[in-house]
Parts: sequence; structure tokens; C-alpha cells
Amino acid sequence: MQLIISSLSKTYPNGVKALNNVSLTVNQGMFGLLGPNGAGKSSLMRTIATLQEADSGTVTLDGIDVLHQKQEVRQLLGYLPQDFGIYPRISAEQMLGHIARLKGIGKKSERKELVSALLEKVNLAKDKRKNLGTYSGGMKQRFGIAQALIGNPKLIIVDEPTAGLDPTERNRFYNLLSQIGENTIVILSTHIVEDVRTLCSDMAIICQGELLYTGGPDAALSEL
Ligand code: ADP
Ligand code: ADP
Repeated sequence: MQLIISSLSKTYPNGVKALNNVSLTVNQGMFGLLGPNGAGKSSLMRTIATLQEADSGTVTLDGIDVLHQKQEVRQLLGYLPQDFGIYPRISAEQMLGHIARLKGIGKKSERKELVSALLEKVNLAKDKRKNLGTYSGGMKQRFGIAQALIGNPKLIIVDEPTAGLDPTERNRFYNLLSQIGENTIVILSTHIVEDVRTLCSDMAIICQGELLYTGGPDAALSEL
């Protein structure tokens, strides 16, 4: 898998230039997108996730034109947005079952098996019948990952996933992410330098919509 972003720009109607001519290549593995609040990270993530239009530039995922072949990209995509909404009165098991159905996973027995395996993987098997409204912050994020992993995505985007988690929950969440398989791109968007340093083999820094750095974390972060 390779994601190639080329000269991507986006200005919002209020005049804020969120992305200014960003070019970036992302290979498989964990990729950190680091930048302060307001840097343009979410704008970039939403664009790659086919949820927002760019003004100019191109994005390709293994040759797929991301900005135009949206259905093809969505088949390959797992997206965990910042502050994703949950339905508080439904259980994790039910919710994942619904999502699997929406993603077109055919048979009921197949969906059941998949949902069980995912809940096992994110350590929520014993809480799978509890309503999502009763989950702690860490449990919600692990549920979010399970949701994003349905359908074996090859491009996984997680946007500021650890906001509000305590250090233990954060570690659990990251353990989970770092187990995701080969030939998969995981983009971790965050303002936490330490997370990128420990988890990511490659990274970029963006600030005020401009790409300031791309490469390995050691060279960029040794000064920080
Ligand atoms: P980050 O994810 O790094 O915090 P964002 O992509 O959310 O950055 O925001 C980049 C800039 O664009 C910020 O100045 C933000 O206020 C602005 N912005 C984000 N979304 C919108 C929007 N829908 N309309 C107008 N301005 C926006
Ligand atoms: P580590 O790899 O750092 O030891 P894990 O994420 O594998 O941490 O979790 C350690 C143990 O805690 C596992 O047995 C797991 O099932 C359990 N666990 C993880 N998250 C939770 C949670 N939110 N509530 C209860 N138990 C949990």
C-alpha cells in the first residue's frame, strides 16, 4: 500500500487556509502526522477519508484516485474520527453487527463471527452486551478501533485518538493499533510527540497548513 498526496490545498469559505500545497508519501506501517491544534491535520484526514473536497491537488492510494473514486477508497478505508459519536443505548455487539451489515458483509453467521473476533481482539468480549453509554473513555476508543477494523481496511486513519485517555488506556489503545497487519497503512494524527516517537516508523509535521517535515522520527524529534 502506498498513499501519495500531491500539492493538496484547501481554503474554507471563511478564508482559513487549512492546507497549503501539501505533498506527502505514506508507505505501509504506522505513520505519524504531528502538528499543533489548528494545523490542518483533521482537514487532511477528512480529505483522504473522502469526506471533504479539496480545492486542488491529487491523492492516490495504490493507483486509485482518492478524490474521485470514493466508493473504491471506502472499501479499503477504516476511519476513526476525533470525537466519534456513539449510540449510548445499544450494545457494542449490536452496533458492530449493524456496521458490518452496512459494509455489505453478507451472511448473518459471518457477521457474528467477525464481531466476536473483533471484540476479542480489542479486549471487550466480556463487555460486549453492555450499552455503549456505560463504557469508559478507553473502552470507547477500543470500540472505535473495532468499528474501524470491520472489513479488513488497508488504510486506517485515526484522528487524535487518545484525547481524554489516561496513560494506561492510552497504552492499551496503542498496543492494539501496533498489532495491525502487514500491507496496511495506519495514519495516526496527533499533537503528542511522544506517541509518534514510540510508535511510528515515518512521520510528517504540519503547521498552519504547511508541511514542515517528512521522514523518520529520530531526525525530527531528537531536539524536542
Ligand atoms: P487540526 O486537526 O490540526 O486541529 P483542522 O484541520 O481541524 O486542524 O483545522 C485547520 C484550520 O482550519 C483551523 O484554523 C480551523 O479553525 C479551520 N477549520 C477547520 N474546519 C473548518 C471548517 N469546516 N470551516 C472553517 N474553518 C475550519
Ligand atoms: P499490556 O499489553 O500493556 O499488558 P493490554 O492492553 O494487553 O496491556 O491489557 C492488559 C490486560 O488488561 C489484558 O488482560 C486485558 O484483557 C485487560 N484490559 C485491557 N483493557 C481493559 C479495560 N478497559 N478494562 C478491563 N480490562 C482491560
